[in-house]
Amino acid sequence: MTWLTTLKQDAPAELPAGLSPSSPGLVIPSQVNGHSSGPNAHGGELREDLQEFLGQDTPLHLLDDLTKVNPVTLETEFAKGTFASVLRCLQARYMADTFYTNAGCTLVALNPFKPVPQLYLPELMKEYHAAPQPQKLKPHIFTVGEQTYRNVKSLIEPVNQSIVVSGESGAGKTWTSRSLMKFYAVVAASPTSWESHKIAERIEQRILNSNPVMEAFGNACTLRNNNSSRFGKFIQLQLNRAQQMTGAAVQTYLLEKTRVACQASSERNFHIFYQICKGASVEERLQWHLPEGATFSWLPNPERTLEEDCFEVTREAMLHLGIDTPTQNNIFKVLAGLLHLGNVRFADSSDEAQPCQLMDDAKCEGKGLYSHTQGANIEDPLLETLQIRTIRAGRQQQVFRKPCSQAECDTRRDCLAKLVYARLFDWLVSVINSSICAEPNSWTTFIGLLDVYGFESFPDNSLEQLCINYANEKLQQHFVAHYLRAQQEEYTVEGLEWSFVNYQDNQTCLDLIEGSPISICSLINELQTRIESALAGSPCLGHNKLSREPSFIVVHYAGPVRYYTAGLVEKNKDPIPPELTRLLQQSQDPLLKVLFPTEEKSQEEPSSQSRTPVLTVVSKFKASLEQLLQVLHGTTPHYIRCIKPNSQGQAQTFLLEEVLSQLEACGLVETIHISAAGFPIRVSHQNFAERYGLLRRLHPHTSPGPYSPFPDEGHSGWSPHAKEAMLQPLLQDILHTLPALTQAATPGD
Ligand code: ADP
Ligand code: MG
Repeated sequence: MTWLTTLKQDAPAELPAGLSPSSPGLVIPSQVNGHSSGPNAHGGELREDLQEFLGQDTPLHLLDDLTKVNPVTLETEFAKGTFASVLRCLQARYMADTFYTNAGCTLVALNPFKPVPQLYLPELMKEYHAAPQPQKLKPHIFTVGEQTYRNVKSLIEPVNQSIVVSGESGAGKTWTSRSLMKFYAVVAASPTSWESHKIAERIEQRILNSNPVMEAFGNACTLRNNNSSRFGKFIQLQLNRAQQMTGAAVQTYLLEKTRVACQASSERNFHIFYQICKGASVEERLQWHLPEGATFSWLPNPERTLEEDCFEVTREAMLHLGIDTPTQNNIFKVLAGLLHLGNVRFADSSDEAQPCQLMDDAKCEGKGLYSHTQGANIEDPLLETLQIRTIRAGRQQQVFRKPCSQAECDTRRDCLAKLVYARLFDWLVSVINSSICAEPNSWTTFIGLLDVYGFESFPDNSLEQLCINYANEKLQQHFVAHYLRAQQEEYTVEGLEWSFVNYQDNQTCLDLIEGSPISICSLINELQTRIESALAGSPCLGHNKLSREPSFIVVHYAGPVRYYTAGLVEKNKDPIPPELTRLLQQSQDPLLKVLFPTEEKSQEEPSSQSRTPVLTVVSKFKASLEQLLQVLHGTTPHYIRCIKPNSQGQAQTFLLEEVLSQLEACGLVETIHISAAGFPIRVSHQNFAERYGLLRRLHPHTSPGPYSPFPDEGHSGWSPHAKEAMLQPLLQDILHTLPALTQAATPGD
């Protein structure tokens, strides 16, 4: 089918030629020279053209409005005009409870901040699945889901698909990925049930069960989202030749493990800690050493009751994933131990040669992590490991013991908690994977769902934000490359001529962050001065000479972000004192034995023969990101951009400023720029005839041409009043839909 392509930015403004319905790609007028000086530079000309086209008696104010239908240009002024119309469109739709909007090859998903169960009913999923052309139904994540599903199926040579869900915290990414998983559980249901783990159930149910478990251990209540995912997730839904889901595999990224030991005020620790404290029975409290009413300094804001605190749901899901009750008990006991560890406080030692002693109220005998696992008193090896550093030096590797300062003791305590929690989380992910992953020969294709933290810029940005924004920069580059390629292919099929105009290529920024031989990643172990002197030539490196704190600015595609270097180097090294690992390796606890196998060499303890470099946080992240991008490159990507209409989480509230900054941050603004450089709006001939055939009725003298898509309607004589009545909805349609936000009509069917 030939697709009609409209609104080319640089298209000539002569209407009759541009509108020739016989050409394969029709061009609707825009006012239109992208290089003009302002939105109305060609307004007069266009108005005349429109008047000629629509008839001399067309009400003038309608013509005025029509000339404001603004093609997107790269010029800022034009851009502002466009975003205003994008914003207006999104706002109008949001207020009308329409939360999904197509924008080129992306879907914009506005968070409703209220339950809209009718949008996620299995019946609706089936409707999208059964529709001959799902893209003709209202924009929905199920359209994307179904399109993706059909892409895998319809091709002779199956191509894996991926859906990249992005947006800032609280925008609805996890909700969207969860809903898509449910969608596939319905439309790609497997015919048989699995019998393993003693629980016979369908695999898709098991895959869905991974959500509450991962959310209990990986999500937390933050200022921006009560159920904020503190890790990135890529889930690969595996399909067999019959398009049935036979399994799944999960990959996680950058768990925010510092949260275990340090929570910002008004935020909370991971949900699971609250769940065990609220949900444990009397016997379990005894077993896990969690007395009723105990207070824990690592458990702030326990009084807030959240839906996410439902322990039963987590336990049930764990059971379904094959984590039996004794193992669960073991996990919860270790978690309770971590909470007690958080209550350990050290007093400053006046004598440097003496270890810091416990503060009086912290002598919680028999309750610490180690005591659970070894049955020993807290003041034994655990305490000693926190208080005293062992240093190996000299040829003989002599061991020296040095008491730690109070601050060092605190750091070691926190490090221990982070270490245990991060290992526990990774282990859970591996258990989930072994429970849901299909046999290699039982699947042929996959659909990947990426739920990834969006671009972040806070007053105080550090290594975490650098990694997150680096990931977003990579994903944006992937998106732009894909989008441009897809456009080019489509234009070739349509026989349209076009050339690339400038768009913001973020390679320079990526070179700054990850390039070789020298980049922020490679330099991050060195000092601030080194970053500044060695990379001063990059146009993406900003400077802030006025800031007293050492920092550098990276100009990302979504805006400049200042990163503070204080603590960056240490965070990047993420050092783990070898004594801590050794201590945990000695534990008799069955779970800790699995998490810390004795054969594993602890960090910073290289043998004299093989000195393997210690992997830094950045280098590990870079490697996993590259792996992810490699997977994504092998797929056909689809994009869902989640937007938070306001930061208070209120329904029916659409704050223009906040939305605009997210449109910028998620690259939508850039998408519109690129889109405007080509033919952003595509309507099939048939759709076009249905929607705009009206125009021919209004102006019947235009020659229909040999292949007119318009039905032959030869009558005229509409009164201006009737004309206005008919044009108004059309105008609304054009104003709200056409400028850059249009039904994405994908070619190929
Ligand atoms: P993110 O993963 O982007 O941080 P979430 O997916 O956790 O955000 O969404 C935050 C909250 O917004 C959810 O807990 C839910 O209350 C609400 N929400 C998001 N999307 C929807 C939706 N489609 N319908 C109803 N509520 C939603
Ligand atoms: Mg999330």
